[in-house]
Amino acid sequence: MTQASSFPKLVIPDTLAAGPGPGNTDARVLAAYAEAGLADHMHADVLRGMIECKHMLRSFMGTKNVHTFGVAGTGWSGLDCMTSAVMPGDTVVVFANGTFSGIDALTLRMKAATRAELAASSLDPKPASVTVIDVPHGQSVTAEIIERALAAHKPKWAFMAHWETGSGRINDLRGFSDACERHDAMGLVDAVSSLGVADFAIDDYPGVVGWASCPQKGLLCLPLTYAPVSFTDRYIETLKANGAYTYANHPIMEARHWGIVDGKDVEKGAYHRTHSAYAVCAFHEALRINLAEGLSARAKDYAFHEKALRGAVTAMGCDVTSNMTSLVVMNLPPAFAGREMELVQSCRAQGFGIWPTLSAPVQIRIGILNLLSQSAITEIVTRFAQAMTALGAEVDLESILGDLDAHYQSRIAA
Ligand SMILES: *Cc1c(COP(=O)(O)O)cnc(C)c1O
Repeated sequence: MTQASSFPKLVIPDTLAAGPGPGNTDARVLAAYAEAGLADHMHADVLRGMIECKHMLRSFMGTKNVHTFGVAGTGWSGLDCMTSAVMPGDTVVVFANGTFSGIDALTLRMKAATRAELAASSLDPKPASVTVIDVPHGQSVTAEIIERALAAHKPKWAFMAHWETGSGRINDLRGFSDACERHDAMGLVDAVSSLGVADFAIDDYPGVVGWASCPQKGLLCLPLTYAPVSFTDRYIETLKANGAYTYANHPIMEARHWGIVDGKDVEKGAYHRTHSAYAVCAFHEALRINLAEGLSARAKDYAFHEKALRGAVTAMGCDVTSNMTSLVVMNLPPAFAGREMELVQSCRAQGFGIWPTLSAPVQIRIGILNLLSQSAITEIVTRFAQAMTALGAEVDLESILGDLDAHYQSRIAA
């Protein structure tokens, strides 16, 4: 048996993180994290940094919502905060089309279940007040599907993932917001994968009252920091009227530390919990980077590089079924079907971090978060081609790299 005291220092190797997330954290963000001086969580500069983050988040998300801030933790922490106003017995319609919206559906079933419904199956409750509309893997949630369900059920809350990362599908946010308005449902959106990648402003979707995202994907701030959330006044009024069974992730309570008190901006945040100066600095720097580059420029960049990667894997015989711009989800050529895990594992063993799908069917996912350069995409394509070749596929890498180069030359020419 190893003695606890004899564990060597943990060293984690460098990898090419080409998955659906987490994205490669910018070196400037890591430096900001490491360079923050030791400061208490109520130090004036920490509080000022949090208030500046709040203002930057509002521009990043495109909103005037006063209740816009970061929830300490990962994407699920922000989603938990957003769904905290959903109370036992509330009517909810949830659209699920993959791994993540499936977990969001479970979260909402847990929150809307009555005590008896929860006790009947506490880890997988099936409350009568929640309707889950299952859309098959690989398909998007469309305006028609949303309209039909909201017209039929007239729920208090409706939920959708904007971009379903499990299958790489973009769902119809415009259709969702419009249908929520038509049927007076309060829309809740999981924007974990789309924020910082898609060019959109949340205030353009008035049917949606609550938004939640994460630090590690489009925002590129993996060092465990803050999950962006934003709430309209209607959400906050509903929450105030009914309460929520949480202190830590309570939207009104948590907002106070970010200088949002009684629905107004104040000069100084109030204690809620111990926020870390390191995390605040990293989050602040990530927001500065994102805003300097601009959402529309970044969205265009993602689309251009995704097209390059999509073209290359298609030329290798793969069938791409996704339409997100930060991620390519695909089937291997028919002759290699069933060998997806073998391929992913051999890539990962060599420090090339691609992913399988996390729920059925098994597909391969390659992401490009913060890998927006010709050299990064060329490395991904080359490494993937080598792995396909090792599997026995015939890949004409030279011609694929030629086409890739032409794609990039076309941009320089344009
Ligand atoms: C990644 C992801 C999550 C979970 O985020 P974590 O940061 O891992 O907690 C939730 N929803 C969607 C759509 C995601 O892509």
